[in-house]
Amino acid sequence: MTLQGKTGLITGASRGIGRAIALAFAREGANVAVIYAGSQQAAQHVCAQAAEYGVQARAYQCDVADFDQVKETVQAVQKDLGGVDILVNNAGVTRDGLVYTMKEADFDAVLDTNLKGAFHLIKHCYPIFVKKRAGKIINISSVSGLMGNGGQANYSASKAGLIGLTKSVARELAGRGICCNAIAPGFIDTDMTAKIDKDDNQLVGMIPLKRMGRPEDVANLAVFLAGSGADYITGEVIRVDGGLAM
Ligand code: NAP
Repeated sequence: MTLQGKTGLITGASRGIGRAIALAFAREGANVAVIYAGSQQAAQHVCAQAAEYGVQARAYQCDVADFDQVKETVQAVQKDLGGVDILVNNAGVTRDGLVYTMKEADFDAVLDTNLKGAFHLIKHCYPIFVKKRAGKIINISSVSGLMGNGGQANYSASKAGLIGLTKSVARELAGRGICCNAIAPGFIDTDMTAKIDKDDNQLVGMIPLKRMGRPEDVANLAVFLAGSGADYITGEVIRVDGGLAM
């Protein structure tokens, strides 16, 4: 149990990759704060599953794009679970379209959730980490942020921005013993990629390991980055993409 006695706050933990991370953290002994936007039932279900590992698990509804809601939520988590040791900025949305037709609101919505949301969480967890002189921040970026992707200018910009945020925060907080890293997943089988045909040979053909990823593939790396085995790793971006973007 590599995360025994720690508390992890995971945004977007009601479904997909965030859910897998919350359950993997719980399996490793961490208490978990499951942050969700609208899927209350799913979030409660994740908490029930996490609690089976004998840890505390609580769900919090919070729009990560809202500065004040994030502040209140971090305060509530601190009160309920006694602090935050690991922050995973995983909540993310897409509003795909060509730049020519993309509405300003679609650009803003994606940046506000994917990038500004991470800033809000880091900002409000910052004093907790600094006081402890310890902490792990893991930002879920994407290979789209590394390579760009036609039809996803807003999403790719948000994910590239997360990489800049990761490296800046890593530099800013390294002297306090706090690590900040990013994970860049490729195609992972979740609701976000539900429209993609998993048996599409062309898609799978582009992936050297010849399959889409599973949420657990990303969660395994998150567990490693959250644990003491990664204490000397900061400002890093690690792909979990079956070799797609190498
Ligand atoms: P998903 O299945 O669509 O789940 C998205 C999660 O984010 C849900 O828990 C959702 O909560 C939450 N969320 C969305 N907007 C939110 C907001 N404003 N405030 C709080 N929570 C919010 O997505 P996923 O595939 O697991 O993706 C997770 C992360 O990995 C995202 O950042 C995504 O960009 C990134 N990623 C995914 C892939 C992939 O192939 N799936 C690849 C690269 C990167 P509700 O359930 O309450 O709506």
